[in-house]
Amino acid sequence: MSRYIPVELRRIVVERANHLCEYCLAFEGFSAVKFQIEHIVSLKHGGQTIAENLAIACIYCYLNKGTD
Ligand SMILES: [Zn+2]
Repeated sequence: MSRYIPVELRRIVVERANHLCEYCLAFEGFSAVKFQIEHIVSLKHGGQTIAENLAIACIYCYLNKGTD
C-alpha cells in the first residue's frame, strides 16, 4: 500500500537492508526503478508506519505482494 514514508524512516529501512530487496535480495543499485518502502502488515490490516513494520522491496516484489 502506498503511503508517504518520512525520509529519515526510509533511510533507516534502506540501510538496515543494505539496499537489498528484503524478499528477493535484488540490489537497488542495479535497478532502473527506485525500490519501494512497503508495509509488511498492511495499513488496512492494522499495520503501522514504523521501522519494524517496513521493508524495502523491488518493484516486482512490491507489486506481487499487494496488501494481503
Ligand atoms: Zn524483490
